[in-house]
Amino acid sequence: MTWIKDNLMAVHKNILDTARSCGRNPEDIHLIGVSKKKPVQMIKQAIDAGLTILGENYIQEAMEKIDAIGRDAAAWHFIGHLQSNKARFAVQYFDLIHTVDSFKLAKEIDKQAGKIQKCQKILLQINIAMEDTKSGAQKDAAVDLAKKIMGFENLSLQGLMCMPPYFDDPEDARSYFKQLVQIREEILAAGVHPNAMAQLSMGMSNDFVVAIQEGATMVRVGTAIFGSRM
Ligand SMILES: *Cc1c(COP(=O)(O)O)cnc(C)c1O
Repeated sequence: MTWIKDNLMAVHKNILDTARSCGRNPEDIHLIGVSKKKPVQMIKQAIDAGLTILGENYIQEAMEKIDAIGRDAAAWHFIGHLQSNKARFAVQYFDLIHTVDSFKLAKEIDKQAGKIQKCQKILLQINIAMEDTKSGAQKDAAVDLAKKIMGFENLSLQGLMCMPPYFDDPEDARSYFKQLVQIREEILAAGVHPNAMAQLSMGMSNDFVVAIQEGATMVRVGTAIFGSRM
């Protein structure tokens, strides 16, 4: 399966070239390999080829795979929709949860993290295109929610995450990435510490180049590394 290594190198090169061409430090851009629905063997190949962060969407599937591969074999990020009743597992298994989108969920993660004396790193997910089918906090609730999340003892807010609609032309996603940057500005203007807004998780296989140009610090890339999902 040398193609995984080839794909990974191509994505890394693309990130590097994009960062350089827009005057950004490539080290500020973290690649998250999205391995949902992909088998353990492929994930191991990717780790052997140098991938250090994996993103998973489904708790049950992720737990089985992480148990098989090793909790410490990579950093594990949860990027799927999280139900409060699964927060306990997310806290046990994941270094960063990208998809916190309500006060209720934040509160439950805080509670579960407290039980195992962990400070759980999280991102606040924004429903940037206001799609009914997508999770994420409403844009006009973002400032208030960020401020409230800062009050939880066992949560460490690191930034924002969004997932615009899919477009054949990635240029069409640009305005949504700009909007996420704008929301970060509003949150900072409301007095939230810059450390809590350091990360912007945005950009997928199809549009990560545009996302990096707009300031992404984390890109979540599945298909371009692991191939299409059936
Ligand atoms: C599946 C998924 C990705 C990766 O999508 P690709 O188009 O395969 O790169 C990124 N982010 C989230 C939230 C996802 O669910």
